[in-house]
Amino acid sequence: MLKISEIFWSAQGEGLNCGKQAIFIRLSGCSLQCSFCDTKESWQASRSIRTEKIIARVEKFTLRFHTKLVIITGGEPLEQDLTELVSSLKAKNYQIALETNGIYFQNLSLDHITISPKPAAAYRINQQWKRISEIKLVIDRKISFQTIKKLAESYPDIPLFLQPEKYWPDSYQKCWKFFKQASQINLYQVRLGIQLQNFYQIR
Ligand code: SF4
Repeated sequence: MLKISEIFWSAQGEGLNCGKQAIFIRLSGCSLQCSFCDTKESWQASRSIRTEKIIARVEKFTLRFHTKLVIITGGEPLEQDLTELVSSLKAKNYQIALETNGIYFQNLSLDHITISPKPAAAYRINQQWKRISEIKLVIDRKISFQTIKKLAESYPDIPLFLQPEKYWPDSYQKCWKFFKQASQINLYQVRLGIQLQNFYQIR
């Protein structure tokens, strides 16, 4: 049983998979409660759903839209045990992407791992994560370039996206400033990020 906020089909709006069609499983609950969180509705307690039911809903979307990419997101999905969900999806040949704040670790069979470290956890990434696909950092009012630099230097081969904060329009300028600073010191993996869903006004 997992506490699920919503399951839906859409386009991935961020990061390396930007623009790809996908089925999203949004889990409920997140203990960090960031001020800039754009999925606050997922913090609320919601009803638990059995894994078989979740898979059945995912398969319905596949029948309609033919996508085999599932994005497990939240809230913070790793605050619940994903072992059964991930193994059941794998058994049905789904590609699985996970979006997490990086505090917790579970040994899961994942195809794509997005870590978005958060200020409430001092931008810490659990050291057990050895195979990260990308890092995303929300550029809010408080984040400093030092944080970008430290993370980029710790993970030199992993794309690091500067993610504009949805509720703060000046974030774009700050992303651009940090992008230029990063390029001046050869942090070539730092990239400008976007949230396509805001421009298309989709989920
Ligand atoms: S870690 Fe993510 S889901 Fe949790 S409160 Fe922060 S932005 Fe929202």
